[in-house]
Formats: sequence, structure tokens, C-alpha cells
Amino acid sequence: MAKRKFRYNPQTLSFEPIKVPVLKKFTNLTIQFGLSLIVAAIVFFSYTYFFDTPKEKILKRDNTEALVKFELLARQVEESNKLLSEIQSRDNKIYRAIFDADTISTSLRTGGIGGATHYEEFDNFSYSELLIDIATKLDQITWKTYIQSKSFDEVIGLAKNKEKMIVSIPAIQPISVKDFGRISGYFGNRTDPFTKQKRFHHGVDFTGTTGSPIYATGNGTVISAKHSFFGYGNFVLVDHGFGYKTRYAHLNSVAVKPGDTITRGQIIGTLGNSGRSTGPHLHYEVIHRNRVIDPLNYFNDMTTEEYERMVSNVAPMD
Ligand SMILES: [Zn+2]
Repeated sequence: MAKRKFRYNPQTLSFEPIKVPVLKKFTNLTIQFGLSLIVAAIVFFSYTYFFDTPKEKILKRDNTEALVKFELLARQVEESNKLLSEIQSRDNKIYRAIFDADTISTSLRTGGIGGATHYEEFDNFSYSELLIDIATKLDQITWKTYIQSKSFDEVIGLAKNKEKMIVSIPAIQPISVKDFGRISGYFGNRTDPFTKQKRFHHGVDFTGTTGSPIYATGNGTVISAKHSFFGYGNFVLVDHGFGYKTRYAHLNSVAVKPGDTITRGQIIGTLGNSGRSTGPHLHYEVIHRNRVIDPLNYFNDMTTEEYERMVSNVAPMD
């Protein structure tokens, strides 16, 4: 029921209802409504200026949650990256080393990875730095995993070939202990018996009786069997695979020819004095990846006593 307003009339001594014209009523109502609206707007904007709306609160909470999740993801990615680096290091130092495979360089293992410039699309995002960091690390993981899987493929292949590798790598003496008298020249720097100058000696010299059998020290293929009056004289060069070659020089006779497949312990010739030699001896070299190495490290078939006798039985240079 609408409220009615009354006014006191002193003449009639009574209260009389006030009659407000309809138009004025409407105008009053409109003004009231407008004022209410302005007050409401002021209250609303003041409130939202100082306080968050429920929707804003939800968005802010979601945003904080997203940041926490991103940071967690970044940490997990970083952990995976570190773990992968450890596997890479183990691969180079242990797995590949066991099978005598070349180590994979750090540049190849981490190569092919773009910088932050690849992720310009993240530039305008909130947390763009974090996103770029995660994307970059994920790229690194993808590349490292690819290289690592290739390396494992190679190692698996080498492991399957291990039996062959064991019988191929030079591992015995090229001359029987009973047949050689002494070692007259070790691997390394020594005085040249001809020029008396310091010169690097690429192998080990075993003196012995002419005609003593010389044995292949591992399975392989003969790549050279030459007769010469100079340098190495008559010599045999064997490729054992797996990066290994052996050379047997100053031979008296050669029992093999290029292309022959030979087995460890097979006679490839006899001890002699051909080429640049001061007396009957075998010059024996072990070459690994085109680099000469000390053959003494490759004699696995000797007893400790035999080895000590061989090493101590050094004669003066001739
Ligand atoms: Zn020599």
C-alpha cells in the first residue's frame, strides 16, 4: 500500500491528504533512482579498487597455481636434464670405453640446440622467461636423448661383436718366450743404433735366432706383406679391426700374402735380419687408430715371471 502524506490545515483544524501530481511523483522517483545508481556505482568501484571481486580472486588463485606448477615443471625438467648428463658421462667413460669406441664430444652431445631466440612466441606471455627456460631445456633433453640412443645402438652392436673383438685385439707375444733372447729395444725415445741420435722407437725389438717362427698376435687380415732391403725389410702388416693393426718387421721369410685371413697364433713368417737392422731381431709394432702404442701393454699370455724376465732382460742398445 502506497504511503500517503498529510498536511495540517489550520483553517479546518484537520489533516488533509497532500495531492502530488503524477508527473512530479515520477520525476521524484527518477531522481531517487538516479541518485541510488550513482551511490551504488561509487560503492562498487571503490570496493573493486581496494578489494578483489570473487571472479578476480579465482583468477588470481588460478594464476598463482599455474606459476607454482610451471616452477615445479621447470625443476623436473632440470632434474631430467642433469640425469641425462650423468648417463652421457657414464656412456663416454664406461660403456664406450669398454668397447674401445671413441668418446662423443660435448659439443655434439649438446649441439643442435637453439637459443632463446627460437621462442619469441612466448615473449608476450606472463612468465615468458620461465616458459622459454622450460622449452629450451626440453629441446636439450630431446637432442641429448637422440644422441644417447644412437650411442647405445653402437655400444649394443659392439657388445654383440665382443667375442670377435676379444680374439682380434693383439694380445699375445709375436715370438715364443723360448725363442727370443732379450728385448734389445723398447718403445719410446732411445738412441738410434745406426746414427747414435735420439729417436723415437715405434715398437719393441726382440732378438732371437734367425728362422724362429713369428706369430700373428690376433685374428685379422693381412694388408701388407712386403719384401724389401730397406727400412722395415721384409714385413707383414695385419689389420685386426676395432682400430688395431700390428707390424712384424725385419723378417727372414714371409708366410702370408695381402688379403689372407689369419688367426691368432698363426705363423706369418720367421725372424730375420732384413732391412735396416743390426742383427737378427723382430721389430713389432701395435698401432691403434693410426697411432703407435707400447706393445708391452698388450701381452696378456705371459706369466708374471715371464713378463719380469722379459722386462728386466734389457741389453744395452746396439
Ligand atoms: Zn725396432
